[in-house]
Amino acid sequence: MSEVEGSAFAPWPLAALDVPALRAAGRQPVPLRQFVLKVHSRCNLACDYCYIYQGRDRSWRDRPARTPSATMRRTAQRVAEHVRRHGLREIRVDLHGGEPLMTGPGTVLEYAEAVRSALPAGRTAHITVQTNGTLLTAHTLDRLTAAGIRVGLSLDGGTAALNARRTDHAGRPSWPAASRAARLLADRPDGYAGLLCTIDLSADPALVYHSLAALRPPSLDLLLPHANWTAPPPGLPHRPPWAARHARAVPYGTWLATVFDLWWDGEPGPRVRLFTEIIALLLGLPSRTESVGLSPSAALVVDTDGAIEQVDSLKTAYEHAPATGLDVFRNTFDQALDHPGVVARQLGADGLGATCRGCPVVRVCGGGNYTHRYLEGSGFRHPSVYCADLEHLIRHIARRLNTALAHHDSVTLPDRGSATRTDRGFRPGPGDQPPEEGIRAER
Ligand code: SF4
Repeated sequence: MSEVEGSAFAPWPLAALDVPALRAAGRQPVPLRQFVLKVHSRCNLACDYCYIYQGRDRSWRDRPARTPSATMRRTAQRVAEHVRRHGLREIRVDLHGGEPLMTGPGTVLEYAEAVRSALPAGRTAHITVQTNGTLLTAHTLDRLTAAGIRVGLSLDGGTAALNARRTDHAGRPSWPAASRAARLLADRPDGYAGLLCTIDLSADPALVYHSLAALRPPSLDLLLPHANWTAPPPGLPHRPPWAARHARAVPYGTWLATVFDLWWDGEPGPRVRLFTEIIALLLGLPSRTESVGLSPSAALVVDTDGAIEQVDSLKTAYEHAPATGLDVFRNTFDQALDHPGVVARQLGADGLGATCRGCPVVRVCGGGNYTHRYLEGSGFRHPSVYCADLEHLIRHIARRLNTALAHHDSVTLPDRGSATRTDRGFRPGPGDQPPEEGIRAER
C-alpha cells in the first residue's frame, strides 16, 4: 500500500502533515533510541486478542517466517549507521515476534551479535527479547543471559484461569509452560526484564496484580487493549471522539486505580511502569514511554523482510497502517524519520487535536497512546479512546500523591471543566527529550 492509499484511512497525518514545511520551520527529527527487530513472524500461540494475528493488518502472511541472516546483518549496519551519525552512546534493542524463540535461541543470539558487532566501539546496546515463555528452557535462559540479553514475559495474570485466553493453535492452555518460564525467570533476576500484561476488564484487578507480583518480576507493564474510536475496546461503547471528555463510565480508569492503590499501599512490589511514568510526569519529569506524556517517540520496527515499520500496535487501525514503504536494504533510518506517521509521533502537543491541547491534564496524559486516537477516515488527531479513563487514573494518582505530600508542595491539576493550560503544581517536561524506554513488546 502506498502512502497515498493509506491516507484514505488516515488523512491526518498521512495527507495533511506537511513535513518539508515543518523541517523548514526548524522542527528537527529526534534520533531513534529504540529498535524493535522482528526475529520470527509466526507464533506457537493463538491468543484470541492478539493484535498481530487478529488485527486488521495481515501483512505478516507475506513476510518470511524467520528473519534471514542477510537481513539481520543489513539491519545491524543500518542501526550502527544511525548510532554513528547521531553520536548515540546507548540504544535499546527489543527482539520481537511473533514468538522470537520459535526456532530456539539461535536466531535471537545471532541477531543480537550482529547488532553488537556492527556498533562503533564504546556504544552500548541494551537488548531484551519478549516471549510468551512456552519455549523458554533453563538452557535457553542460560544462553540468553550469558549473551547479555534480558527476557520479558507476556502473561495475562499469575494463574491458569487468568491466562485462559492464551492458548496454542489446538486450544490447549499455555499456562503450564508459561508458568515454568516465570519460575525460571524469578530465579534469574539478572536476566529478567519484567512482565507484560494486557488488561482484561473481566478479571479481578486485585487477583491480577497480586498473582503477577507473586512471580517476582522486576517490572510490570499493564497495557490497555489496543483499540480506537472505530473499534472501541471491550467495555466501552461506540461514541464519537468529541464525546470523549464527557464520558461517565471509566471502567479501565477504575480498574487501574484499584491496582494503583494496591501497589501504592502494599508491600514493595514490581515497578509498575504506567504508574511510575504518571508520577514522574506529575512531578515535572519527561515521560519515557509512548503511553503517556508528550515526549517524542524514538522507536521503529524492522520486520522479518527488512521493512521499516512504525509500531506494531497500529496493526489494529487498518491494513498496512504501520507501513512506511521503506526498508533497510534501500533506506536509512533517517529517511524513516521523515515519514509523516513518524513525524506525527514526535510533535508532542503540536501533534494533538484541539480537545487534548485544551485539556487540563494534557502534560501528563499526552493524548494517550497514539494508536488509541484513531478514527477511520480521519486519522490520529483525536483524544485517546481511553480519554476519560486516563483522566480518571491521572487525577486519582495526583490525589494520592497530594495526600502523601501533605506537608510538602502539593501536586495540583486544574479543575476537570477547565479549558486552560495552567501548570499549577507541576512543571512541563522538555518536549524534545527522547524516551529512555519507549514502547515494550505489547503482547
Ligand atoms: S490529554 Fe488525555 S485526558 Fe485530555 S483530552 Fe486528550 S486524551 Fe483526554
